[in-house]
Amino acid sequence: MANSNKIILKDLAKQELSEFVVRQGLEPFRARQLFHWLFQKNVAYFSQMTTLKKEVREKLQAIAEINLLDSVSIAASQNEPTHKFLFALHDGNRVESVYMEEANRRTVCVSSQVGCALNCDFCATGKMGFRRNLSVGEIVEQVLWIERHMGKEATNIVMMGMGEPFLNFDAVLRAAELFSDPEGIAVSKRKITISTAGVIPGIERFTQEGHRFKLAISLNATTDEIRRKLMPVTKKYPLSQLLTAVKRYTDNSPYQITFEYLLIAGMNDSLQDAKRLRRLLAHIPCKINLIPYNSVDSRYQPVSDRRLNGFVQALATFSAPVTVRRSNGLDIQAACGQLYTQNVKSK
Ligand code: SF4
Repeated sequence: MANSNKIILKDLAKQELSEFVVRQGLEPFRARQLFHWLFQKNVAYFSQMTTLKKEVREKLQAIAEINLLDSVSIAASQNEPTHKFLFALHDGNRVESVYMEEANRRTVCVSSQVGCALNCDFCATGKMGFRRNLSVGEIVEQVLWIERHMGKEATNIVMMGMGEPFLNFDAVLRAAELFSDPEGIAVSKRKITISTAGVIPGIERFTQEGHRFKLAISLNATTDEIRRKLMPVTKKYPLSQLLTAVKRYTDNSPYQITFEYLLIAGMNDSLQDAKRLRRLLAHIPCKINLIPYNSVDSRYQPVSDRRLNGFVQALATFSAPVTVRRSNGLDIQAACGQLYTQNVKSK
C-alpha cells in the first residue's frame, strides 16, 4: 500500500521516470529496465527486478512505491467470465474495476474518479457524489493488478467505471499513454476507449490535441428534456452543443465515434426515440451501442424484448452499425451504473 512520503513510480510518465533515475545517480539505461519491470513484466515487488543490482533495488524500495491498491473483495460471476474487483486506496477510499472475457477479448473497465459529480439518475456511482480524482498510477494499477491476479493480459481497456474521465482529463490521458506504450502494457490505442457523459470542454480538448484513443459518448436520450432527467450534465451541455462538438471531433479525426444508448423502459425506448436518434446522428460517422438497462432500483425498469427489437428494427436502415450489448456480470452488480453502491449498502 502506498506510503505518501515515497515517490509513486506509476504516476510518472516515461520521461519523468528517466529523470527520476538520473536524479538517483543511476545509469540512464536503468530507466528503461525499470519501465519494463513496472509495466511489461508487471512485477509487484522491487525484489523481482533481477536485472537491477541488489543495492539499487534496496534503494528504490526505500524511496519509491509500486503497490497502490489493496484488494478488498473480488466477486466472480456464476454465469460468465466476469469478475468485479473492489480496491482500497491509500487514503481509505475505494474504487471498483471489472474484468470481462469474451472469445479472445479480455477487457478491463477502470475507474477514473472516486465517486462522480455528474449524478446521472440511473447510476449507483452518481449517488455517492464526488470524492476525488484518481492519480495516473491509481488508474494504471487497476489494469496491472487485475492482469497479475488473472494471469492474463488485457486486450481492451475501457474508461467506463466510476467517474467522468474528462473531469480528470490530465490523469486519464497520461494513464492512456501508459496503457498504449509498446514497451509497457502495449494495448493498441484503438482498443482503449474513453467514455464521456458529454463534457464538451473535454471533447474539444481531446479533438484539439489529436488523441488516437477511441472516444465514446454516453448519449441515452434524444431530447434535452429526457436527457436532463437522466443526465443532469445536459443542463450545462445541451444535446445540440454536444453533437456540434462531436461533429467537430469526427471532422478532425480519421475515426468514427461510438454512442452508448442505455435503453430504459418507457423513458427513451419508443419508435419516436429511435427515429429521432437517426436524425440526430445522420451526419456523424458513428457506431451505436444499445445497452438494455438492468434494474439497480425500482425507479426504472428494464426494456422488454419486444421494445428492444422494435428499436433495433427502426434503426435497421441507418447507415451506422448498431450493436446490442448485454451487460456482463449482472449477478455481481458489475454492469454499467452498478458500481460501488452495492458494496456500501452491504457494509
Ligand atoms: S454514469 Fe458515469 S458520468 Fe454518470 S454519474 Fe455515473 S459515473 Fe458519473
